[in-house]
Amino acid sequence: MVLGPSTNIPLLDQHTLTMTHKQPPAIPKELNHLIYLNVEHRVLICPDDKCRKAVRPSAFVEHLRVQHKTPLSDRRRVQEYVGTFGGDCDYSTIELPPDKSRPQPMILIFDGFQCRLCPTRPSDASTHRPSTSTSKKCMKVHGNKKHKRYRVLNNKLFKRVRLQSWF
Ligand SMILES: [Zn+2]
Ligand SMILES: [Zn+2]
Repeated sequence: MVLGPSTNIPLLDQHTLTMTHKQPPAIPKELNHLIYLNVEHRVLICPDDKCRKAVRPSAFVEHLRVQHKTPLSDRRRVQEYVGTFGGDCDYSTIELPPDKSRPQPMILIFDGFQCRLCPTRPSDASTHRPSTSTSKKCMKVHGNKKHKRYRVLNNKLFKRVRLQSWF
């Protein structure tokens, strides 16, 4: 998703999902350093500074073992929690906040660019978002290929935005 000018962030992809709106249970306090729940979007996040990204519920315990060498006793407790969480999601089903929304907590923010030429349909913003990338070169290629604009000033093609991506 794309964050607004210095305050807003857009997500990179555009998958939406009909979510079940049952509230997931809160994370037990003693697990706070191992797992973080984004309640609004029902997304489990690895809060480790190396990660700060979403991890699929079904893959969470394995993620802790492989990436962080989390001790078995802690992993068992996380497993218990994940078992009560219900449902699973990955990048193709995860719900994206609308563009220009406030940054999602915990998730890393990085600088990127957003196409100025992609059409936006405000009525249907969740399914159509302008292309974004962290690479100027990719944005130029996108402008050439998709919009047939050549030798155009960068700032006519794209603008700077702040981005977040669940994964
Ligand atoms: Zn992690
Ligand atoms: Zn475009």
